[in-house]
Amino acid sequence: MQLDGKTKLYGIMGNPVSHSLSPALHNAAFRARGLNRVYVPFEVTDVKLALNGLRSLGVCGVSVTIPHKQAVISHLDAIDPVAERIGAVNTLSFQDGQISGFNTDWIGANHALATIADLPGATVLVLGAGGSARAIGFGLKEKGATVVLANRTLALGLALAKDLDCEYCPLEEVGAVKADALVNATSVGMRPETDATPVSRSVLEKIPAVMDIVYAPLETRLLREAGQAGCRTVAGTRMLLFQGAAQYELWTGRKAPVEVMEAALLAHLQGK
Ligand code: NAP
Repeated sequence: MQLDGKTKLYGIMGNPVSHSLSPALHNAAFRARGLNRVYVPFEVTDVKLALNGLRSLGVCGVSVTIPHKQAVISHLDAIDPVAERIGAVNTLSFQDGQISGFNTDWIGANHALATIADLPGATVLVLGAGGSARAIGFGLKEKGATVVLANRTLALGLALAKDLDCEYCPLEEVGAVKADALVNATSVGMRPETDATPVSRSVLEKIPAVMDIVYAPLETRLLREAGQAGCRTVAGTRMLLFQGAAQYELWTGRKAPVEVMEAALLAHLQGK
């Protein structure tokens, strides 16, 4: 990668941010397309100061991750309507001194799930009530799916179900839900607790399509058991990939080199 006076700067702001896979994903895409752009991590504590600095330095686009996805909103000049409904922004675009906010997490999740399920009119059981479940829930509604939400902590689950205007089901009773797809948007099964799984095998036997948004390990116990139960499955890496591809397309106005981005992501996750 040749950096010079014309190199356009992109990055990710979060804290911590050194573990992020986004630099590998985006730099691979810029390289593959021969674009004179570079993407770097920014560890940020003060959002307002950081945004002023990024704007003054002429940065073109930034991904936003934990813990700043909500805090950036009050500093934006414009926000995409779906990101506003979700209440979280993971993508910033800087143009003519104006900062616009978007959310591509829901786009990535919908794109990944759509590879194994027909979303319009589907009933999707979403496990979890954290930041990802929120973006996924709103995104599914955008696609015309019906969401049924289940969560470990009742109060948090009920609160998100109210915001989504959807049905709530206690986690222990999900076996009774007639769903076309299930999405695990909890952190259950994530390394190092790889033996954990959010639902039993008997639940999986009744659901045709299962997506796990946990991506470390690449194949979670949930996905392994879903495959054994005959479900169509999609891994968390696909959501991660497609949310990054949507960012690339927002920033460049060009189609993302998805295969290159996926190879970079998998190489990084497999420690190559
Ligand atoms: P979060 O806001 O902290 O929410 C975590 C959720 O997991 C909560 O609903 C929590 O339930 C539930 N949970 C945690 N431990 C549990 C347990 N032992 N049993 C049952 N439920 C449990 O996290 P997040 O940002 O939404 O992220 C969730 C997972 O998605 C993480 O593993 C993250 O790495 C992954 N992720 C993947 C992508 C992707 O692109 N593939 C993107 C973002 C995040 P309570 O409400 O009861 O605490």
